[in-house]
Amino acid sequence: MNLSEEILFMSLPENLKCIPNVYKEMFKGFDLLRDDIEFDLSTENVYDQPLFCNPNVLFDGKTVIWYDFINAGIVQVKDICYEVIEGFLPEMAIVEMIQNVTNHCDINSIVKRYNTLKVVLPKEWTEIIHKNIHRRNVSRSININVIFKDKLSEFSMCSTKELYLLLTSKLCQHPICYKKWTEVFEIEENDLCKVWKNVNFYWKPSILMDLDFKIAHYCIFTNSKLMTMKLINYNVCDVCEKEVENITHLFLLCSELVEFHLFMQQKLSVLFDNVDSDKIDNLVYEEVFMFGLFGSIKGVNVSFVNFMLSVARYCIFRRRNLLKNLNSNVDLIRLFKYTVKHYITYLYEYLCDAKCMRNVFEKHFLKNNILVQETEGVITFNF
Ligand SMILES: [Zn+2]
Repeated sequence: MNLSEEILFMSLPENLKCIPNVYKEMFKGFDLLRDDIEFDLSTENVYDQPLFCNPNVLFDGKTVIWYDFINAGIVQVKDICYEVIEGFLPEMAIVEMIQNVTNHCDINSIVKRYNTLKVVLPKEWTEIIHKNIHRRNVSRSININVIFKDKLSEFSMCSTKELYLLLTSKLCQHPICYKKWTEVFEIEENDLCKVWKNVNFYWKPSILMDLDFKIAHYCIFTNSKLMTMKLINYNVCDVCEKEVENITHLFLLCSELVEFHLFMQQKLSVLFDNVDSDKIDNLVYEEVFMFGLFGSIKGVNVSFVNFMLSVARYCIFRRRNLLKNLNSNVDLIRLFKYTVKHYITYLYEYLCDAKCMRNVFEKHFLKNNILVQETEGVITFNF
């Protein structure tokens, strides 16, 4: 098809090989905004409308490409209309045009498709075609307006930022996890949005970040999920072997976690020792355990608390996987103590010695923290 500006009216097929990727990306982006774009069509714009790959010309809800029409030069509305009078060309004129370039063609099929085509063209276009003639030499432009926050703006007046925001709003999906977690806990979505900051601490070991990301997204492959996916034929927890394993059972409710959660609560109460009781009263242990603390609390090293909880979740998940996959059990509290010490010692070496970032280590691990202390260049743990 030999088209120029009219390509703006089209929604191009994904597999087009004839244009460079950069243009494909641009058209794809433009296509995503299409629902928020209005074309102010003049008579000439209507005659210029492409017949194929045009989202306004749909057959059974889909755009089509008919190569016999295209080879005969029938690509735009004006190609099926008269030039000096109003209206559409007769069926036989179309058949002749196609016969001129194709040796064997099915006349019935051409007539049938041509008649369908005329029916599926938008009514406003058909009205214009029956009322106004096509003037080949009239100069034309394409007027594009974009709907921004329910207001119509001229495309050329839109800033890159506005268009970019519009595009990202089309590309990004609201994570389903907010709905899922607000069904589990009495937590506001606005608060839950803060979880990503805890997930992505830049110094956090990637293995913890990975698990926290999956928890925040509510996408841990628990036995109940695996069974729904028909990957296993049981949904009972591998640790307690009693109840169905869903995400809250796995991390909070399993009877094999009672001792561990008591241990964690005791550690947290030590860290919250100097805090006003009304600050703590508002906290729900289960929520804090799953997502960490949001925002700052005076006298508490929030990043250490969040790091410690992150390790705790990781250890629960690791113990469960060891039992599930290798059938070998470990002492969860011992595993937790070992893992915390391992990572803190590593981060101490890395941040203080290798990277000269002692201030970062002090801020996140030593400040307001009686569980981890440094004496004469050695880290000691009060676990
Ligand atoms: Zn269990």
